[in-house]
Amino acid sequence: MIYQYAIIGGGISGVAIARLLQLSGVHSLIVLEANSEPGGLCRTRMIDGHTLDIGGGHFLCSKFDEVYDFVFHHIARDNFEEFERVSKIDIHGQWVDYPLESSLWQLETSLCVAFLESIARNGEALGLPEPTTFEEWIRWKLGDKIADEYMLPYNAKIWGHEASEMDIDWLHKLPAVDVRAVFTQAMNRRLDPSLFPSHSRFYYPKKGGYQAVFDALCDPVRDHIVTDHPVTTIERSDDLLKLNGGIQARHVINTAPWHALAGSPIFSGAARQAIHDLQNNSIVVSLHERAYEHDVHWLYQPDIDTAEHRSFFIHNFDPRSKSNGVYKETNSKRWTGSDELFSHTNDYAYPVPTIGWARTIETVLREAERAGVSALGRWGQWQYFNSDVCIKEAMLLAERLGHTRWKVTCGAG
Ligand SMILES: Cc1cc2nc3c(=O)[nH]c(=O)nc-3n(C[C@H](O)[C@H](O)[C@H](O)COP(=O)(O)OP(=O)(O)OC[C@H]3O[C@@H](n4cnc5c(N)ncnc54)[C@H](O)[C@@H]3O)c2cc1C
Repeated sequence: MIYQYAIIGGGISGVAIARLLQLSGVHSLIVLEANSEPGGLCRTRMIDGHTLDIGGGHFLCSKFDEVYDFVFHHIARDNFEEFERVSKIDIHGQWVDYPLESSLWQLETSLCVAFLESIARNGEALGLPEPTTFEEWIRWKLGDKIADEYMLPYNAKIWGHEASEMDIDWLHKLPAVDVRAVFTQAMNRRLDPSLFPSHSRFYYPKKGGYQAVFDALCDPVRDHIVTDHPVTTIERSDDLLKLNGGIQARHVINTAPWHALAGSPIFSGAARQAIHDLQNNSIVVSLHERAYEHDVHWLYQPDIDTAEHRSFFIHNFDPRSKSNGVYKETNSKRWTGSDELFSHTNDYAYPVPTIGWARTIETVLREAERAGVSALGRWGQWQYFNSDVCIKEAMLLAERLGHTRWKVTCGAG
């Protein structure tokens, strides 16, 4: 059998593109998933009465209306609780609101003054040119004191890479620092929500954890998914592509990390080297029981002596989950294990934007595209995409491939 589309990887990217193709009238498609179940980073486990998102803290929040339209077409909005985000940062034992720049006044006076001074004297405010590495960029943006006591240790923990080895071209993710606004909020001792960055509100499923979002998109295409089927080679023969020497398709869409596919005959030595150079980190998600009585959804933990970099207070966004459930995210290089009820390692958690990563992935994608393989998602495109962006990218790819009927069905776009 020759498929019109073979999709590698059954995470939200693979399933979103499969569903968009199906809604557009394409039925000759197969999704090949390495694991024994689909879902990738969007999976949830119920453990001893706790809801655990094993890919880490997952919330639905998007700047794309069409993504909401698409998701709510599959799982009605009523199935979600909408929250105003309550997230804090632990600065030397004091919990202050995120983002730090807006809540400096919550710190004890001498630290507040030192951090304000750090921001007032930052390189950007002084008109210095933008640097090229992440470490220099953090110092330029927020000043040395905030860099040394918050941003650099936090980023070292999460990435497991030195900030001096990381690029800055992915930083559109971070909000610009408005020095005047920082001082205004500190003087008023009040956090101004209009100055908040994005993500101030989010949706979380009332039932089933974040996987409920994935399942809703996956259910209509489940029959097209083959699990326990890791793809290791893609080769071209005439106008067809062959996967693992067997399955044939006219077009392949890859959403899986490229490392497993590096030996494919479609790649030259230069592309193989580029694949080898792509870096990712691994994150352990661990479940713990701790008593808490506050409304915080999650906490950022820059303290270098604490293994984890973020903790989530599950009951505060999923009231059905037991009242004392906490999960932690820890870079696997720092993970030692302690009193966890359960832990799960995500080998591929974040693509790391090492210096030159954009050129590196471009080398891979150019050769893949030439062979008829499109790239999609966090791993295919090797970018720090959240699940909503993976869906948006799937929409853009479906359009590029000439499939747009999904727009009519979902009222999206
Ligand atoms: C800690 C953390 C927190 C996050 N928080 C949020 C959040 O709050 N909100 C949000 O929207 N997003 C969040 N994200 C991002 C979100 O998880 C991803 O954007 C999204 O799940 C990526 O989906 P994907 O399908 O591209 O990749 P994945 O989910 O990784 O799926 C890839 C799939 O490919 C399979 N695969 C791998 N190799 C092969 C192979 N050789 N052959 C076949 N199959 C293969 C894998 O088993 C997997 O199922 C977070 C991510 C992390 C790590």
